[in-house]
Amino acid sequence: MFIAHLPAGYICGKNLQQMFAKAGAPVKIFMLAAIVGGIAPDLDMFYFYLIDNRQTHHHMYWPHYPSVWLALLAVSGAWLYFAKQKSNAALACVFSISGCIHLLLDTVVGDVFWLAPISFQPFSFFTVPSVYKPWWLNFVLHWSFLLELFIVFSAVFIFRRNRTAAS
Ligand SMILES: [Zn+2]
Repeated sequence: MFIAHLPAGYICGKNLQQMFAKAGAPVKIFMLAAIVGGIAPDLDMFYFYLIDNRQTHHHMYWPHYPSVWLALLAVSGAWLYFAKQKSNAALACVFSISGCIHLLLDTVVGDVFWLAPISFQPFSFFTVPSVYKPWWLNFVLHWSFLLELFIVFSAVFIFRRNRTAAS
């Protein structure tokens, strides 16, 4: 997935805002945590390009291990449940949920190693055939890119609707 992670994080934050409202985290920080969580797994791209010299599929690095994000979600969920002051726990929760959504979206057409680090068997819902060059054109011209556009336009729609409601 190329362009939909940030807007997906935004949509996630908007959908969970009400549910977590009682935790008392400031709305802007809550949304920031959701958006940063939505793109956080891809921060391993820096390692991929700058240090690893593109030798390993970046989905094989630990920021793309579902086990890492599910563990984060479990820990932050427990923190939220038991904490007296819940605002930071709510931020950790929405960050983790957004990170999990990132991995689900990556699984649509990109290989995600759902059992890592136990097994490195890749999973994806669909395969993008390699027809065009450069490689990214295969993804942009694949039907799954419509899903990305749908997520982007949904986020824009929600953003504009909120601004209209606020003014
Ligand atoms: Zn990713």
